[in-house]
Amino acid sequence: MTSFIKVKDLVKEFPIKKGFFGKKAGSVHAVNNISFEIQKAETLGLVGESGCGKSTAGRCILGLLPATSGSVKIDDMEVTGVEPAFRKSIRQRMQIIFQNPYSSLNPRMSIDGILKEPLIIHRNFSKQGQNDFIARILDLVGLDKSVLGRYPHEFSGGQRQRIGIARALTLEPEFIVADEPVSALDISIQAQILNLLKSLKEEFRLTYLFISHDLSVIRHVCDRVAVMYLGEIVEIAPVEELFINPQHPYTKALLSSVPLPEPERDLSQRIILKGDIPSPVNPPSGCKFHTRCPQVMEICRKTPPETTKINENHPVNCHLLG
Ligand code: SF4
Repeated sequence: MTSFIKVKDLVKEFPIKKGFFGKKAGSVHAVNNISFEIQKAETLGLVGESGCGKSTAGRCILGLLPATSGSVKIDDMEVTGVEPAFRKSIRQRMQIIFQNPYSSLNPRMSIDGILKEPLIIHRNFSKQGQNDFIARILDLVGLDKSVLGRYPHEFSGGQRQRIGIARALTLEPEFIVADEPVSALDISIQAQILNLLKSLKEEFRLTYLFISHDLSVIRHVCDRVAVMYLGEIVEIAPVEELFINPQHPYTKALLSSVPLPEPERDLSQRIILKGDIPSPVNPPSGCKFHTRCPQVMEICRKTPPETTKINENHPVNCHLLG
């Protein structure tokens, strides 16, 4: 099967500049050589602690941030480093849903203006065509046409996120990066938005990269999960396999810290990670997790682990499995 999204050796570094002449004094290694593929109509979760590089990776994949190196392909078309004129047609196929729907909506524009803006730039609709199309999109996200004359501050968090989703849908994208789309919402609203994203995926065969730090949310919506630590992907597996049979010590620690409905799970096995995630300016040598790993060995401090495949769909980067 050909993959719809292919990310290969993606790297993103932010230079640190010092002094009057802005001399480069180092780099923030935000995303470090990550590779994965997503099938058409699949949802891949990207999970990890705050600051591990998930959102930066999502923005590089969409071309919102220029990648330092590596390749991103949608349907075998290269996304990174393409000419601006060509980028416009690619961007129509790829959209983002942001974490904070309030800051991502222009407070000075009415909902009508917010939803029509992408249509005016990218699509060739008549005025009536625009109105009909917007009415259809609003219906899909569960909003009434009466919202069109109102402004973002007049809505609740859940309604604003529905407007954010409606805006992402206006260009009829095939691939959506959902960046923590429910983490700013009340728990009672989260399920509604997650179910909306799932039903839209089924109706339009959408492909999602679903970024979240919340493993319960990931389990609810994703088909496969990639676990990220300090800019690197350490394990990828189908969602149920990851929850039942995690292999990387970091994945095990993440899973042990969330309440999951497995009565047979032994709570005394809870793994508490010591210390904070190290600085991406000066990441640890060898395995980047070695400063916090409960199973660290001597080799881990010097040599980065190779990828070991537990099975065809379950790669893990850890010396314990080598
Ligand atoms: Fe822990 Fe070593 Fe595996 Fe890294 S390679 S996760 S330090 S056991």
